[in-house]
Amino acid sequence: MDYRLPTTVVPSRYDIRLEPDLEAATFAGHETVAITVSEPVSEILLNAAELVIRSVSVQTADGQVVEGSASLDEAAERARLTFPQPIPPGEHRLTLDFTGILNDRLHGFYRSTYKDAAGASHTIAATQFEATDARRGFPCWDEPACKAVFGVTLVIPEALAAVSNTRVTGESPAGPGKKAVAFADTIRMSTYLVAFVVGELEATPPVMVGPTPLRVWCVPGKLHLARFALEIGAFALDYFERYYGQPYPGDKLDMLAIPDFAAGAMENLGAITYRETALLVDEAAASHTERERVADVVAHEIAHMWFGDLVTMLWWNGIWLNEAFATFMELLAVDAWKPEWKRWTTFGVSRAAAMAVDGLHNTRPIEFEVRAPRDCEAMFDLLTYEKGASVLRMLEQHLSGEQFRDGVRLYLERHRFGNAETTDLWKALGDAARLPIPEVMDGWIFRPGYPLVIVEPDGTGIKLSQRRFTYLPAGGAVSEHWQIPVRVRASVKRGFVDKPVLLGAEPLTVSLPAAPDWVVVNAGGHGFYRVQYAAPLLRKMTNSLKKLAPIERFNLVSDAFALAQAGLMASPDYLDLTARFGEETDRNVWAAVTGSWGYVNRVIADDQRADLEALVRQRVQAAVERLGWEAQPGETELERQLRADLLRTVGTLGNDPATQERARALYARYREDESAVDPDVLPALIAIVAAAGGESEYDEFLQRFKAARSPQEEQRYLYALAAFRQPELIRRTLEKTTSGEVRSQDAPFLMRALLAGVHSRGLAWDYVKANWETMARQYPGSAYRRMYEGVTALVSPEWERDVREFFPSRKIVLGGKTLEQYLEQLRIAVSFQEREGAALAAYLAKPPRPPRAR
Ligand SMILES: [Zn+2]
Repeated sequence: MDYRLPTTVVPSRYDIRLEPDLEAATFAGHETVAITVSEPVSEILLNAAELVIRSVSVQTADGQVVEGSASLDEAAERARLTFPQPIPPGEHRLTLDFTGILNDRLHGFYRSTYKDAAGASHTIAATQFEATDARRGFPCWDEPACKAVFGVTLVIPEALAAVSNTRVTGESPAGPGKKAVAFADTIRMSTYLVAFVVGELEATPPVMVGPTPLRVWCVPGKLHLARFALEIGAFALDYFERYYGQPYPGDKLDMLAIPDFAAGAMENLGAITYRETALLVDEAAASHTERERVADVVAHEIAHMWFGDLVTMLWWNGIWLNEAFATFMELLAVDAWKPEWKRWTTFGVSRAAAMAVDGLHNTRPIEFEVRAPRDCEAMFDLLTYEKGASVLRMLEQHLSGEQFRDGVRLYLERHRFGNAETTDLWKALGDAARLPIPEVMDGWIFRPGYPLVIVEPDGTGIKLSQRRFTYLPAGGAVSEHWQIPVRVRASVKRGFVDKPVLLGAEPLTVSLPAAPDWVVVNAGGHGFYRVQYAAPLLRKMTNSLKKLAPIERFNLVSDAFALAQAGLMASPDYLDLTARFGEETDRNVWAAVTGSWGYVNRVIADDQRADLEALVRQRVQAAVERLGWEAQPGETELERQLRADLLRTVGTLGNDPATQERARALYARYREDESAVDPDVLPALIAIVAAAGGESEYDEFLQRFKAARSPQEEQRYLYALAAFRQPELIRRTLEKTTSGEVRSQDAPFLMRALLAGVHSRGLAWDYVKANWETMARQYPGSAYRRMYEGVTALVSPEWERDVREFFPSRKIVLGGKTLEQYLEQLRIAVSFQEREGAALAAYLAKPPRPPRAR
């Protein structure tokens, strides 16, 4: 089947009038589309889904009106409009009347319900059109290249508010108790960026950023949580106007918090919609991590106003560039806003997560051919966002910040209001930098996987070579190679050598004036590759950890653990390496270390857990003692967050009774006096109390989840419900994943957490097997797919067999290579267990005393 609409008829302008009925969950619509017909046609094909088209007519350029009829092909999501006589070439007006439903699946034009503080239920209607659900809101040419101008009118009850992409130009009475809200014309843009939100909504006063009013909208009673988003929003809007060298392309910018939202946020031009947790935050009560999330998402969406909205991908294969670029810009802007957050170092965690997927045989190239638009749904993953942003950062560092920015400006200038492809960006960057970009970049974009750079001593210098990195044996893939921009830094004779080199297929010797004290490959940490050092070089590095940047220490741990998982490093050697980080002060490095212990925890047998807990306690102890329990004057946000991270580790993974006791006592104080606990530490306390808690704590947390005063508070208590360890409490949480007590936007992630927990995974898996049909019906598609990531924690040969049997026997399709990736990750964990189990058990039973770090 051909997935593209014919181009004999194309739209240039839509005038859309929609009248939603929130009670009945339906809407009525009327639209007039200015079309250009290039050859005589007796039928017009366009997209429509779950719509009933009630009348069709074309008014031709000479004023003649031709009545037509419509038939819907629901499977193809298309409407075929047929006319008794051919429509001649020219500029005509197509008029349609239609009705639709406000669905509960969080896509298209949908309903979101919420309860106010008094417990009364309210409904709002909102849209989520990307990728291909604008066709559920109005009949249209629902392809990114079919850009048009949109003139929208919403007919709504007088008491409600309506928001769309542009400013309100007027309101007029529209029958008893109703008003028609008209919006200004949009710029020429794609259908997936159109938005309508209708309901009882409140807005902040506008913050002016140049000529653009910026506001936050939410359901009543939450405006006090909007300040932080306004602050980063105003910064980002100004920052991007300067960076891109182009004014903001809309006439206002509204950011709306929607109580039910499938994704994190959506970059509708001028009307960005968010999940509440990604926009609303109580600054004073939130942890660093929670604030960082809001800043990230807001900056990301605003970056899209240019990159995505002003210039749009030609077809869905370009999703990667859209998302990778917005992620890259998000980091650049947040780093400029709060340099003390060290956002590029924290990004190491995200890069490593992408490498974990891209090290699979079942990975995919960043960009691949997308024929059916639905296939692009599987593109919204780590490889698109995090690998994509990583390789852009690698390129930016390979050029220079200025050259990269100039190339981006050229690209936006050339393609604004239009569409572009990946090669167009390379061309603009190449023109700005006068370098052949595709030669370096194509391997990273159009081929799956990434390299392992092998470093060996060679005379006084080092020899670099490469092969593809995979967790399971690589087979023929081992000979693949990339053009790798490598930075080498070495300490030589009291000085430093810093060398950028381009490593290709042939091994490369980097000469140094004398044998180095130590050498770091992937200096600065921006490269999307792993490094394997020959033993003597690794030893020199681990003896000089303090000389390395935090991101370099992070990569050292992350790469070493990947090598251990792949069987290229013995697991006791890896665990020994983690003993060298007792004096570590960076939270991302600690995240790499504790994350690997968490992985080991899922692999070992139940009777070895106490040994691992002892090892965790012993290795974290010094850092926990150094940081204490209370915030100190003059500390950075990152130091406070590290304290919380380590307390959580020692109280949960380390199962430390003293920490648990103290957390309980401190939580009891918090109940009396909320100012008694540092906001960064509080989420850790909740997690620890849950891990060691019983029924009374469970009941309290459940109550607090239901009565939460901010989205972050709600999330903390919700996920704490998955951390209780008694089977009867686990069962209570499991039931909530399908009972409707937890929103369908959150329930799949709660289930993923239950599958991932070593105490809950067995019960959770049984529950999924018994209830997957209900889940498939209730959960938004993208979240349902991600829930199954939890099966990667079912680490035993028996579970693995069961998981492998489950999906095909129920005919569960997750799209793209998602399922194959989960199965391969499970295979890697089980084979790690089979290969390293005995060595891990012996090591954990009698770990050597840690060497003193120098
Ligand atoms: Zn995005």
